[in-house]
Amino acid sequence: MTQETPVVPVTLDLREFRDVPRSTDACVSLWERLEPAVLTLDPQAGPRVRFDLGDEGEVGVWFLDPASAPRPLGATTRFAIRGVLEAPEIRHACTTCLTAHTTTYAPYKCPGCDEGRRTGRACEEHAVFLEGSLRASCLGHTPVCRCGARAKVWCGGPKCRTRTAWCETHLRRHPGDPTVAYCEDCYAERFPACEHEHCTGSGYIRCEHRTLSGMKPCGRRICTEHARRWQVYGSYNRGLALCTPHHLRLSSTPPEGLIDLILAGTVARSSRGRSATRRRAQLPRISIVRHILINTRRAVLDMEAIDLLFTTLEQGLRGRTPRDTNLSTALDLLSRHRVSRREDVERFREQHVEGRGHYDRLVQELRRGGRYELAEAVEFSDFRPRSGILFVRVPERLQGLFRGKGGSSVRQLEQRVGVKIQVERG
Ligand SMILES: [Zn+2]
Ligand SMILES: [Zn+2]
Ligand SMILES: [Zn+2]
Ligand SMILES: [Zn+2]
Ligand SMILES: [Zn+2]
Ligand SMILES: [Zn+2]
Ligand SMILES: [Zn+2]
Repeated sequence: MTQETPVVPVTLDLREFRDVPRSTDACVSLWERLEPAVLTLDPQAGPRVRFDLGDEGEVGVWFLDPASAPRPLGATTRFAIRGVLEAPEIRHACTTCLTAHTTTYAPYKCPGCDEGRRTGRACEEHAVFLEGSLRASCLGHTPVCRCGARAKVWCGGPKCRTRTAWCETHLRRHPGDPTVAYCEDCYAERFPACEHEHCTGSGYIRCEHRTLSGMKPCGRRICTEHARRWQVYGSYNRGLALCTPHHLRLSSTPPEGLIDLILAGTVARSSRGRSATRRRAQLPRISIVRHILINTRRAVLDMEAIDLLFTTLEQGLRGRTPRDTNLSTALDLLSRHRVSRREDVERFREQHVEGRGHYDRLVQELRRGGRYELAEAVEFSDFRPRSGILFVRVPERLQGLFRGKGGSSVRQLEQRVGVKIQVERG
């Protein structure tokens, strides 16, 4: 009569065992290590036994049905592992704690612990946070400032964008709000100083002075008070911002140079405004340019002369190589400008005929009043039929005389001539 070998069902308690077997083979080989010791046991004397495996931890063997186990257990005894107990798995374990053989839940990532395999982790105790960002690191990987000191703050400035951390020495805190801290470079960018002598204001505006050959702007930082707007786009549009030295230099710049500045400034604005949301910058009409030249350097040019300045500039640029983006934009602006130039020249000619008539009557009126010096000195400048304004030029020393007390003389002349009269500025 053959007696079937009974099977002894067991459960393995691996909750205190570090290297939990992940495959059947691994489980079998662990069992094979334990079996010689298990065979010496009496399940009925103690259904739960623990084996100390040193550094690897402990393994518990639970006999599920001690009463049915053969006594003693022998080489022929077959065992069946019915279950395995594991510690609740901690998927995100703290890297620092692991080196001390403890497994702690680590909610924070430490990029420094990531050795190219997976992102390292830090637990509540080992996580370090710096001001300025919610990014964590472990103690050992606390960000270091460029100088080597432990960093205090992630700089949120325009250059660092919270990617670089700095120590307290290399931070600059805002005097009005110490919670605002940037590195020196970002601070200078965020709160630039006005470059005007002795000015303590913030230079949020940059000087837009540039020439076509260089296209690199002056870039000097200026506060709103010290910025000069060169109103080249008419009175209602923001003109080119200039620093004081460049603004002062305008009056001694020849017309060709001024037009070069206007074109270069417009090219720069135009390429900045390429996005669909922004209106593309346009060159000012030559009717405006004419006034720019009068106001800036007291040069009175007629429309044909100004048109010629642009045409000459355009021809010069056509031959220039290489044709980079700026040059293409400049030529593009100039060729679109050509249409409006022709219109302005044409209109100017017509207005001159009408304007000249008003001007002649003005001179007659002055003569009739015996104001011969003024009659000699006054010059025709412009006539705007729509607003009915006759622009004249009068030498500075005679302007008071021409206007009269409280403008009474001019008002009288306006009545006689039948148009409004304005003396050109500058
Ligand atoms: Zn930890
Ligand atoms: Zn780390
Ligand atoms: Zn910075
Ligand atoms: Zn530092
Ligand atoms: Zn200033
Ligand atoms: Zn400048
Ligand atoms: Zn004018």
